Amino acid sequence: MKSVICQNAALRVAERPALEPARGQVLLEVLRCGICGSDLHMRQHCDHLRELTRRVGYERIAGSADELVLGHEFCGQILDYGPQTRRKLKAGSVVCAVPMIRNGEHVDLMGLSAHAPGAYAEQVLVQEAYMEPVPNGLAPDRAALTEPMAVALHAVNRSEARQRDVAIVIGCGPVGLAVICMLKARGVKAIVASDFSPGRRELARRCGADVVVNPRESSPYRDWRQYGFIGTAPALLDLALDTREKLGTLPLPWWHSWRLAEKLGLLPKRPIIFECVGVPGILQTILDGAPLMSRVVVVGVCMQADTIEPVMGINKEIELRFVLGYTPLEYRDALHLLAEGKVKGDHLVTGTVGLSGVAGAFAALGDAEKHAKILIDPKQQGEQFA
Ligand SMILES: [Zn+2]
Repeated sequence: MKSVICQNAALRVAERPALEPARGQVLLEVLRCGICGSDLHMRQHCDHLRELTRRVGYERIAGSADELVLGHEFCGQILDYGPQTRRKLKAGSVVCAVPMIRNGEHVDLMGLSAHAPGAYAEQVLVQEAYMEPVPNGLAPDRAALTEPMAVALHAVNRSEARQRDVAIVIGCGPVGLAVICMLKARGVKAIVASDFSPGRRELARRCGADVVVNPRESSPYRDWRQYGFIGTAPALLDLALDTREKLGTLPLPWWHSWRLAEKLGLLPKRPIIFECVGVPGILQTILDGAPLMSRVVVVGVCMQADTIEPVMGINKEIELRFVLGYTPLEYRDALHLLAEGKVKGDHLVTGTVGLSGVAGAFAALGDAEKHAKILIDPKQQGEQFA
């Protein structure tokens, strides 16, 4: 079975032994697999990621010397069932699966652990319980976006964004674009997107951003007055005293009115900011630029140590939330949002390659102007993009 093997930061296509579905597992033929930013990172820095995940108790991330098959954003077709499976879907059914698989006492992250080969291959093993049928005849190259869309859905769910909110998305790589798609699907009234790359700003617009900003030219927070946010400490001090004075003129004791206003959610307006860049320094630029009371949802994965001035967060009472992955329900919801056409991932996909084109695709993904998401089609021949 042909696979792309990542070892010592090099990628090569090689034959690997046929996969046998164990108890509770299903063998799939891979139809499409997305190349994720974390795959690019794994190729060069898996030893570092291994150290970081050890600190949360997961010991099984591949090391650079291991033979690793990447690929956790896939869609496939059922070939065969292992023992003790429920077999509710016929062979040939098109499915997606949460990329985690049970190996004895461990649950392994597919495409990140040498114990759980991912879908940069002709075939892949999945856990039956984590498998979801692809509905409505959704094409495999859209169904393969389920995983990154689930990440975005989780971020938007954790942000608690409502339709009347203003969302500001910092960074329009695949993660930021997926977040924009999900915010749009939720009906969020204003979506501001910011990226240095004109190509990515254009993709952001197509994904549904209402305002796109080049941070070299202006601030993504520039419209804070128009949206009613509080931009400075004096403005907050003024608002508090002003409100207190106004409530004092009412016949009702002011503290009852204040309490009622809080209950009704009549607090100062604040944006929800999605950090989708993941490089050192970005959190501080957000703390510096964001309006007071902003909620910041950190989706971008920065693996280096970073420095922030906590007092900026305190002076602005900024709320920082870190998010990771998704629940099995969010994974299913993302698949169905795609299949029902409520989320359109079409603009994310900028190319398709065969297994022998993967190394070239990794190089091409370095160019933010040209590419966002590249899919692998194991049946495609040659190294060319389609
Ligand atoms: Zn991914």
